[in-house]
Amino acid sequence: MDTRQSGHTGFQWPSGSDRPRSSAQSFIRDMKCWICGNEADSGEHLIKASDLKSLFGHVTQNSPLFFHTDLKRNQPIAGIKSDKFKYQALLCARCNNERTQPHDRAWERLSAYLRERQPPIRPGMLVRLDRAFPGGVSKRMLEVHLFFLKLFGCLITENSIPIRIEQFAQSILRGVPHPNVWLALWTGLQNPSVKHAGCSPVETVQLAGRVAYASWFYVVDQVAVNVMYSEPGEHRKGLIHAWHPSSVGKRVRIVGQ
Ligand SMILES: [Zn+2]
Repeated sequence: MDTRQSGHTGFQWPSGSDRPRSSAQSFIRDMKCWICGNEADSGEHLIKASDLKSLFGHVTQNSPLFFHTDLKRNQPIAGIKSDKFKYQALLCARCNNERTQPHDRAWERLSAYLRERQPPIRPGMLVRLDRAFPGGVSKRMLEVHLFFLKLFGCLITENSIPIRIEQFAQSILRGVPHPNVWLALWTGLQNPSVKHAGCSPVETVQLAGRVAYASWFYVVDQVAVNVMYSEPGEHRKGLIHAWHPSSVGKRVRIVGQ
């Protein structure tokens, strides 16, 4: 069965609403790129086109994907570059393209490695990162971290989450890690018989109006990335097998349920 025709193939919009695109288009004219401050004229993809392409193959009007939001299910999508797959324009084209292209490529490489690995990844497994990135694990894992900072920054801006965005921008501009953002690699979140890609909403723990901890998932088939923001001193379960570019080794533990 072609799961794309079944209506089960999912793509989840990360926040709770199905925004009207026309009002969004008039709103964004005054928006600034949250990374560099120039005019925002580019929408970052919610899920990388390369992830969708390798998962779903060729997407056309006759063989569409189905896009789900909290309000509306089974909206057919005729191509992986559809505007429905994008955040509202919150970046300038330079930041979205050339500035962050190495970061996109590093994730593309790691994503493909994790999905194609034989034997397949499973919970508890230690994965050798030098197989994905021969000779350059720490630099490439920093780029993976910076890729998820870009997505996280778009989610924070678009959903007005009370986390300071300046450090996200500075990290991307200077190519240095955000000290409070951690990633964990997961598997086993999805039913293996159904192809699925999507983002979860951002869940936050707030103390006195300030976000102490935030967590969301980026899912491509059997691989998921748990992206976490954590103030110093937070001892959250999600952080146990999480990694940070300042301390990542050549192996990383796969988390699962
Ligand atoms: Zn910019």
